[in-house]
Amino acid sequence: MAEKREINKTEKSSASASGRAGKLRRFLGSFRLRLFLTILITGSVSIAAMYITARYVCSNTLIDKRVDMAYDHLNKMCVKIVDNMYIGNPQNAPQISSELSVAASLFDGRIIVADGGLKIVYDSFSAEEGKTMVSTEAIKAIRGGQSRYVSIEKEYAELSMPLIDRDNTDGEPYVGVLFAKISLEDEIVLVNNMEKFLLVTVTLLSLVLLVICFLSSMEFAKPFKKIEESISHVSDGYLDELVTIGGYSEVEQLSDTFNDMLGRIEQLEVSRQEFVSNVSHELKTPITSIKVLADSLITQPDSPPEVYREFLRDINEEIDRENKIITDLLELVKLDRKEGNMHLALCNINALLEKIMKRLTPIASSLSVEIVFESYRDVSAMVDEVKMSLALTNLIENSIKYNKENGRVKVSLNSDGKYFSVTIADTGIGIPADSIDRIFERFYRVDKTRARESGGTGLGLAIARSVVLMHNGAIKVESVEGEGTTFIVSVPMSFKAGGEPA
Ligand code: ADP
Repeated sequence: MAEKREINKTEKSSASASGRAGKLRRFLGSFRLRLFLTILITGSVSIAAMYITARYVCSNTLIDKRVDMAYDHLNKMCVKIVDNMYIGNPQNAPQISSELSVAASLFDGRIIVADGGLKIVYDSFSAEEGKTMVSTEAIKAIRGGQSRYVSIEKEYAELSMPLIDRDNTDGEPYVGVLFAKISLEDEIVLVNNMEKFLLVTVTLLSLVLLVICFLSSMEFAKPFKKIEESISHVSDGYLDELVTIGGYSEVEQLSDTFNDMLGRIEQLEVSRQEFVSNVSHELKTPITSIKVLADSLITQPDSPPEVYREFLRDINEEIDRENKIITDLLELVKLDRKEGNMHLALCNINALLEKIMKRLTPIASSLSVEIVFESYRDVSAMVDEVKMSLALTNLIENSIKYNKENGRVKVSLNSDGKYFSVTIADTGIGIPADSIDRIFERFYRVDKTRARESGGTGLGLAIARSVVLMHNGAIKVESVEGEGTTFIVSVPMSFKAGGEPA
């Protein structure tokens, strides 16, 4: 007992684990999750690109502007220094010293001016005057080169530029250098503030993006959820409830296709129910007759032997009828299994028809009906001989059965090289116009009494049609009531699996 409980527990837990795994798999493969991730990734990439671009543009624009401004200002100072011959005698141009000092405080930095021998003649910090500048930038500048160096981390920029005496055309025009170190502190503070603002914006945008992702993935997946609900409702047995889902045209199309399919399933269900009730009815009829006949014999035990014999003959006939119905039904079921059930071989259709006609001659004679066969050419085709023989026998037998006394049946065979056609024309009772569309239905008979008398089951034409369709052929009927009927069967000479019907 304890062991059983243990097993039950294990089974339950493994079932719930596999249920959880199934749910997880469904969630991972869901349209909703994929849509959510797609929007999230696209949105995140866009926000990140916007953040990087904005940060780069802000910091570069601000810092470049400050350095460019300093450069322009100092360039002008260089011209003034040379024009006022400040290098040779700084005391003669005190306004230059004060302008340099103003510039140094304007850019919150340090300005150094050195002569051609790199000896410092002005230092805004007044710390290095008289000393010699030793730096690669100074050497480069005294040779006419300019340099700028920006350090974001250390928050400063360095500019070196030569002092050029443009009037000195004979000798060396570079008379000295100007070196400036300017502070970028304010700009960096501004950039940092801007970065903070950008980060807040990006965080808010990311939150909005998450909400959009969630809502839109829920919203866009709604029609699919509805379809799933409708389909599961239908699979619960509510076949007549149509699925009506709007939203996107794809989903509308899907629900339309689904409704078409439902319609077809419903039709199939109706015809299945009809078929089952027909089968029950048809199978019950002979049994009821047998029961009535047997009951009358039981209730009249003193009946003469002739009556017994007659009743037993009738019982025998009913048993034969029951047997024929069952055989025909089994034949139809076999035909429903389609191509897999075909035994194709090259068959001489002329010989096949001659054999059928020969077999049916006694019935035709007993009903005083003349049967003739006319062949326009010798035809050999790939067919299932047994099935084709059954179909053609049913059609020719019908033309004899539903004929008039001294009537005629003409069977003709022809071929166009691609298809062969068998035409069965009779001078019989014909088929009323309102019945012509129904004669291929299972158990449909125009005149039940006549069909019963002639041993008909109502399945002959259904079998013939199935066989012809199985061979990708076609069957047509033309009839004038009281004058006669013509069936035309056309079948491809060589069978092609899955081929189009003729
Ligand atoms: P049954 O076993 O009753 O003959 P079928 O399926 O062969 O069943 O035929 C269906 C019905 O079509 C027949 O009951 C008959 O009313 C009608 N029918 C078939 N062939 C002919 C024909 N050649 N002439 C007139 N009626 C026909």
